[in-house]
Amino acid sequence: MSNHWNNYKPVFSYYFTNKFSMDQQWQKINITKRIGNVFSFTHTYVENKVWIALRYPYTFSYHKKYLGYLDNTPHSKQELLLATKQGRSIDILEITNSDLPNDDKKGIWICAREHGVEQDGSWVCQGMIDFLLSDSPVASYLRDKAVFVFIPFLTPDAAFNGSCVNPVTGYSLAIDFCPTKMRTSESRAILNQIYRWIASGNSLDICFSFHNPHGSEPNIWPFAYNNKNKKENKIFLKSIFYACTDYTKRRPTYRSSAPNFAGRCTAEFGTLSYIFEINHQAKKSFLTLDELREIGACFCRGIYHYLRSKEENNAYKFSLRGR
Ligand SMILES: [Zn+2]
Repeated sequence: MSNHWNNYKPVFSYYFTNKFSMDQQWQKINITKRIGNVFSFTHTYVENKVWIALRYPYTFSYHKKYLGYLDNTPHSKQELLLATKQGRSIDILEITNSDLPNDDKKGIWICAREHGVEQDGSWVCQGMIDFLLSDSPVASYLRDKAVFVFIPFLTPDAAFNGSCVNPVTGYSLAIDFCPTKMRTSESRAILNQIYRWIASGNSLDICFSFHNPHGSEPNIWPFAYNNKNKKENKIFLKSIFYACTDYTKRRPTYRSSAPNFAGRCTAEFGTLSYIFEINHQAKKSFLTLDELREIGACFCRGIYHYLRSKEENNAYKFSLRGR
């Protein structure tokens, strides 16, 4: 058992039900210990029934209820990408100001759960979606200037089975975007959707794939794939980091290629592509669920800073901390 287990703090809730609620109540268990390969924790509970989890659970059934809650929300539309082998759906949610044509808008694709068990990314997607659908002037600007395409739950079968790989095929989506060897219907469906997206006249300018690490790494740790455009990468990540001041961060790791969603988007379309490792269990910066979701709003503000700086030819000095 790795040393990072010394840092883990499980969470508990008395009120985790199948009923949808935006107001989930999870609390941290503070008394933990690890002896050899045994991790244990102690807490006095005041109810007879309690739910305990290592990370805030973002289940497939919760995801479907959240999409139901968003159904018919102005500025958003939903689409089924694929029915999985075990009969679950991979859903797409698009957010933009549909009164304006997409021709001049940036195309920004955001996904989570290339690894089924990495739940923090789905919460950050939810934070982004809620912010983009809000009345904030920054959200309004972003809806006018960009089309956001979310796939917040890429691997529902793996997630349902508590695994990183598909339980039927045994393949991991996180390494299945290699141009010469795509083995899963999920990766092919995603790529075909991007082809249709581009063929309809849209651009694919930025893509994020959210993961979460399994140790005590900082709250936010980017991997950048577009090495041909390092200067642009730096401006973009500076904008994101600027908007995420309250979180711990690790310097970006630059990679030239990878057989994942971000690596493929860079290789094939020249997209500014990132994996963001998100960790609510970071050392010295344990996040509540609301703080974890708020990272999504911060990312939106970061994109806003980036688009403003591009629009004003880098004269924009990040003076607006717009909410
Ligand atoms: Zn991962």
